[in-house]
Amino acid sequence: MTEPLFDTIAIIGPGLIGSSIMRAARAQGAVRTIVTSARSAETRGRVVELGIADKVVESNAEAVEGADLVIVCVPVGVCGAVAAEIAPRLKPGAIVSDAGSVKGSIVRDMGPHLPDTVHFVPAHPVAGTEHSGPDAGFAELFENRWCILTPPEGTDPQAVEKLAGFWRLFGANVETMTPDHHDLVLAVTSHLPHLIAYTIVGTADELETVTRSEVLKFSAGGFRDFTRIAASDPTMWRDIFLANKDAVLEMLGRFNEDVAALTKAIRRGDGDALFEQFTRTRAIRRGIIEAGQDTPDADFGRPHGHED
Ligand code: NAP
Repeated sequence: MTEPLFDTIAIIGPGLIGSSIMRAARAQGAVRTIVTSARSAETRGRVVELGIADKVVESNAEAVEGADLVIVCVPVGVCGAVAAEIAPRLKPGAIVSDAGSVKGSIVRDMGPHLPDTVHFVPAHPVAGTEHSGPDAGFAELFENRWCILTPPEGTDPQAVEKLAGFWRLFGANVETMTPDHHDLVLAVTSHLPHLIAYTIVGTADELETVTRSEVLKFSAGGFRDFTRIAASDPTMWRDIFLANKDAVLEMLGRFNEDVAALTKAIRRGDGDALFEQFTRTRAIRRGIIEAGQDTPDADFGRPHGHED
């Protein structure tokens, strides 16, 4: 076990991501003391029962006092309010980060509240499942997954490197990019797929000619795979679409054009166009497997679900 990278960390919001960070930090001996705060008494009580933090406190401001690293792990839409709440109690020299799935809005919403005495290094661990809450977390969630850091211009490189080292301890690969680029990349790799899943599951649910029990019974034909993604947390995903509006609309526009092209090919009986498109997409799947981001097994290779 290595020397702890941080003395005290504060995790605001011990849900799926926050509790996974706490578990991984413990497992890797990355920190000496873990403090956490949750909005509801129920979650706080559950974290105490699980024994995954050294200290569970009621207020976010109290949690960050004396912490060397603060990670805000709440839905994107409330990160700004949490930043305002914790700002006066942050320890000078502390690193303040988050786990939000959108980065432009985080920089805009959190940045202005934070004092110059702290290092603000926003982060997005591209790892997750469709489950929520402290029971859903696990220490291995970030293994062989990417964590994207989007430090604002002028951020101390040493602070960025220290946070990168923290994520690497959990088996994550770290990449740095601008918030806007992050939001474009994730719009197509994560946000659009979720929107499609939410749509298709809703479409099937509203059919009159095909019954709901038939949809469930024959779901292995492809539908089932979408239902897992469409089971993701409604609050989190509402916030993501509102916060990443422009990039999602840009990708959605392109997607709609491509759907129109495929629609035309089907209507015209243009088998060559369909075959060409399906051959191209099959190669992308192979690339994902070669990149170690999934296994070639039938159904889901990973027991723990998808990336957000
Ligand atoms: P989660 O399991 O639902 O946990 C969210 C936590 O935030 C809970 O502890 C909750 O407290 C707290 N919270 C919710 N609303 C709050 C509010 N208004 N004020 C203060 N605290 C509040 O969510 P998660 O999946 O861990 O997601 C957390 C963040 O990570 C989000 O920004 C999300 O975009 C990002 N992320 C998620 C995934 C994923 O796959 N889920 C992947 C990567 C990044 P209570 O339990 O007391 O309500």
